[in-house]
Amino acid sequence: MFTDTHAHIFKEYYEDIDKVIKDAKMNGVNKIICASTKISDAKEIIKTSSSYNEMYYCLGIHPEEVKENLDELKRLIEEVKDDPKFVGIGEIGLDYHYGKETKDKQLKYFDEQLSLAEEYHLPVVIHSRDATQDTIDILKKHHVKGIMHCFSGSKETAKILMDMGLYFGVGGVMTFKNAKIDEVIKDIPLERIVLETDSPYLTPEPYRKYQNEPKYIKTIAEHLSEVKIIPLNELSVVINKNVKDIFDI
Ligand SMILES: [Zn+2]
Repeated sequence: MFTDTHAHIFKEYYEDIDKVIKDAKMNGVNKIICASTKISDAKEIIKTSSSYNEMYYCLGIHPEEVKENLDELKRLIEEVKDDPKFVGIGEIGLDYHYGKETKDKQLKYFDEQLSLAEEYHLPVVIHSRDATQDTIDILKKHHVKGIMHCFSGSKETAKILMDMGLYFGVGGVMTFKNAKIDEVIKDIPLERIVLETDSPYLTPEPYRKYQNEPKYIKTIAEHLSEVKIIPLNELSVVINKNVKDIFDI
């Protein structure tokens, strides 16, 4: 059994969420952690997760959504702080690839949401794109554990983040042709890796023509077991321990 540590299972993308969950379970994915990117997502996932034992959630405002109201997010977090399905702050971070013009606001939102994670003793799920140095600098000001989602940095960056206690989310990108990330992943100990789909985006090969779903964690796990040269059942034991250490689920 595996956990998809990062997915966006919302009505905006999926007509039949029942089927998505069922297909995930049939493929050995019995836990799915959904991350919000904006307030409407956050509200939806609080509701949806109560209908599915398999579904957990993180609340956060994505760096591309910094027009959203941070105070409203804080109010929501206070409301659900005792919900056992609420397991982290995310998806938060910095994206200078798409949003360089909102850089100052992104820095403020990231910083404040990291403080929320500290205040509520929750792990974080971090999105960082073309913003490595600022991400590292801001993380150094906080004491948080969590995941570098869709990590695509260098070995050097991985080492710095590892020394800070962070984990790495590995997903469909690893299966793409010419993906150089395999070389970096080889160097990261399995004890620091978790699996994620980032559904509905980044479907792994050979299914790229389909919309991504948590069921494809199986494909990602198989690819990782080849890269790490470790049997799938042994891989799952280590990865599940990592998920437990981060999210306590
Ligand atoms: Zn995401």
